Amino acid sequence: MTDSPTPDLPVIVHMERALYDLAARLSTAPDQPTLRRLCEHLHGLDPYDRDRIAPYQLAERLGLTRRLAVDLCVIAARAGLLEISYQVFCLGCGAAEYDYGVLDQVVSGAYFCTVCRRERPADLDDRVEVIFRLSAALGHVRPDPYVDLQAYRRRYFSPHLHFSEPVASALAAGLRGFLALAPGERATVRLELLEGRSLQVLALDAHLVAQIEADHRGDGPREAALHLSAVGIDPPHQHAAPGQLTLHLENQRDRKIGVILRCVDWERVAALYREHPPTVDPYLSARDLLTHQRFVELFGASASLPELRLQIQRLTLLFTDLRGSTRFYLDRGDFDAYYVVREHFALLQGIVRARGGAVVKTMGDAVMAVFADPRDAVAAALDMQEAWSPWSASGLPGLKAGVHHGPALVVNSDGRYDYFGQSVNHAAALQALADGGDIYLSEPVLEASRVREEIDARRHNIEPRELALKGQQAPSLVYRVHQRGGPPAS
Ligand SMILES: [Zn+2]
Repeated sequence: MTDSPTPDLPVIVHMERALYDLAARLSTAPDQPTLRRLCEHLHGLDPYDRDRIAPYQLAERLGLTRRLAVDLCVIAARAGLLEISYQVFCLGCGAAEYDYGVLDQVVSGAYFCTVCRRERPADLDDRVEVIFRLSAALGHVRPDPYVDLQAYRRRYFSPHLHFSEPVASALAAGLRGFLALAPGERATVRLELLEGRSLQVLALDAHLVAQIEADHRGDGPREAALHLSAVGIDPPHQHAAPGQLTLHLENQRDRKIGVILRCVDWERVAALYREHPPTVDPYLSARDLLTHQRFVELFGASASLPELRLQIQRLTLLFTDLRGSTRFYLDRGDFDAYYVVREHFALLQGIVRARGGAVVKTMGDAVMAVFADPRDAVAAALDMQEAWSPWSASGLPGLKAGVHHGPALVVNSDGRYDYFGQSVNHAAALQALADGGDIYLSEPVLEASRVREEIDARRHNIEPRELALKGQQAPSLVYRVHQRGGPPAS
């Protein structure tokens, strides 16, 4: 089968209704015309595009903000129209060998890139792209990747990494063919081996690669054989004399394999690559999804993987708390205090959502939220102080906030994504230093792009301080951000 059948229309209509029903139950949701546009767009896609819906590209196609496009995809996934897929891809070569249906399955730490033949980090910031595809329940069948090289590339390489023209043409000039081998199938190919170049035999779907060096070492054979099995490729490395080579391939696996044959001048490619590095399109990373409020609300961590530990290199954490709330509870009584705290949560949650972050949890009167971009977190903290100031002016407890940026582990906390590590403790300790009305920032936050501008535009002062944070021996340089006393100097 080469093409997906057109999804059964009644099924789609039924699913669309599920989408509208779900949106109607959400407290904030894209409006009906926008949902309708998404559905119409999905109808019009070809089987390949249905298989790879990238939210940022969708935003461009439909003229939406990226945030709204992610929101639409997440809601559509919850309603059953779309499936989420997490694709680990290599920023060196673009190979996208690993594809998971659940975030929890993503390899932790590092993985081995078959093309680059080296370990690559698999952190959620840069290496894991979130894509959506039309749900199998709607009759979508994934396009056959073995039809030809183009189909294979669409499945196993990221479309977001673009080689420069010189690199792309050097790679294209070295291409010697593509073949798909059924289980047990043998094939023989004849090709020209150029001296000094090596032939790369690459089966990305099976994570296998072999190299045949074209040189006169031992006057190597003009014939070579390769066996691709479940345990590897045999032999992974051999020599052959330059000139005509007869290559015998055998698929000993129980599933189909696609094989790319390339005879490339790798040294030249590497030099060109250094001189003209590839460019990468913006894409939705797993970190970006985890810091999206809607995803956090609608999807949880898998109960089957309680030991989840995934690394995020660059996460911004925001903690807030109400200052002196114990006194306030005593003065007002539980009933009144509870009402105020509830209102304050709703206010803060609305701000986090509007600034593109996600509330991880609330603890007592405290809120913990995560953001992909430090500037959004600082803007949210400033919004919070601004929104809360009339309340604190009326005698309610002041709001304190701390923001830190650093690496953190994503963990599974009873079916919810939570965060763990020193950065989390640091953000909480900053918040603990703050007084009502203050925001404390760490240095990485203040030095992040456009943060100072944001603070300045909001007419707040930045005051450096050397303070000992909870749990730390030596004092740290922290920054207190607070409203300017008088009108700004003009
Ligand atoms: Zn690679």
